[in-house]
Amino acid sequence: MDIQRENAIHNSINYFNEAKQVIPGGVNSPVRAFKSVGGTPPFIKRGEGCMIIDADENAYIDFVQSWGPLIFGHCDSDIESHVLESIKNGLSFGAPTELETILAKEIISVYDNVQKIRLVSSGTEATMSAIRLARAYSGRDDIIKFDGCYHGHSDSLLVSAGSGCATFGAPSSPGVPVDLSKHTFVARYNDIDSVRSCFEESKLKGSGVGCVIIEPIAGNMGLVPADREFLRSLRALCDSYGAVLIFDEVMSGFRASLRGALEYCDVLPDMATFGKVIGGGMPLAAFGGREEIMNLLSPLGSVYQAGTLSGNPIAVSAGLAALKKLKKNNGIYTYLERLARRFTDGLQTHAKQYKIPLQTAVRGSMFGFFFCEKEVKNFDDAKCADTALFAHFHQEMLARGVYLACSQFESGFICTAMNEQIIDSALEAAQESFAVIAKRI
Ligand SMILES: *Cc1c(COP(=O)(O)O)cnc(C)c1O
Repeated sequence: MDIQRENAIHNSINYFNEAKQVIPGGVNSPVRAFKSVGGTPPFIKRGEGCMIIDADENAYIDFVQSWGPLIFGHCDSDIESHVLESIKNGLSFGAPTELETILAKEIISVYDNVQKIRLVSSGTEATMSAIRLARAYSGRDDIIKFDGCYHGHSDSLLVSAGSGCATFGAPSSPGVPVDLSKHTFVARYNDIDSVRSCFEESKLKGSGVGCVIIEPIAGNMGLVPADREFLRSLRALCDSYGAVLIFDEVMSGFRASLRGALEYCDVLPDMATFGKVIGGGMPLAAFGGREEIMNLLSPLGSVYQAGTLSGNPIAVSAGLAALKKLKKNNGIYTYLERLARRFTDGLQTHAKQYKIPLQTAVRGSMFGFFFCEKEVKNFDDAKCADTALFAHFHQEMLARGVYLACSQFESGFICTAMNEQIIDSALEAAQESFAVIAKRI
């Protein structure tokens, strides 16, 4: 297979210019604009297994997979046929359907401590609603999140580490009220002392911490798994301060393993959020947890949360097809992880050959790599990575038909439509790219 980008991207350039007239930055989610790597983002016409084809008929090996959802790649025939079948019965009812219960049971049956679940349409909604519920359950307003973790774009969670000695955060976007960000304390990933300080400071000055939200396998600062011991200590701290522990598994759920992060640690959260893979490529997400907490949700309890398209039958059909397929094939994650390691090991070998420092990580079908000398344990470490070098690498790979996430601080994804041959062609492109880069540094 020839993976070299063959055609100039005239159509993409035209489409991008047109889009910029009517859509801010030409995109409906900022990372798609390729701002941190430069160049014009290819406009995608169609997908095919592990490949995407752009508006100028260039084919790329797709390591983005719609940012995680497509664990079976594009146009999976099982998911497709479930969706087509479902579409014939109507697109939306705003009334309960049996499929929603079946999907809820699929998740509950594999994920410990999730006894009840509610479906929503995006990961942002899932985490926002989980936080509201956790605050209501604990009766406290303060929350703790971790620097470098992403939980969607709701106000309470668009907060990053404050300056100097302040442990509570600062808005990471204009428009987020400072008063609200004061309720969000920001701790350092894999650093239990920093979490303890947040708990103490909130107890002294605030309402006390109602909940802690964490990506137990962080995938939004590049791939940075949490240490098992750190998660154990985090659980113990939450217990001693009476805070709800929320695992945000929107990315890692059904991606790192069938049980998300639970496969890698012996710690159970009180609540968990899901998205991406559980929708099979359609807009679907969920939050769930211990029954005692979930029963506070309206209409049973008084915590309000709702959605016109929540549990949409088409989205649920796609998600259900994906989850059933994952459950049926228990070798899937071993297969995907083997391919992920083949890729990161290969990157290591080639990088070493050209004396380019590289750190890599793998969790199931998720992989990550950083251009830096030191192992990455938290966001400060991640920020040491050479983003200019990454941008160059990204451009070289794209020109050779390999579509990587367009930022140093994102994870990559393997899908079942990939095989060793595909990985090896991507590695060949990587070796050529490193050769070009090495000449310039
Ligand atoms: C993608 C993601 C979200 C947000 O999900 P959206 O569907 O984009 O709103 C939240 N948390 C994590 C860990 C994610 O990776």
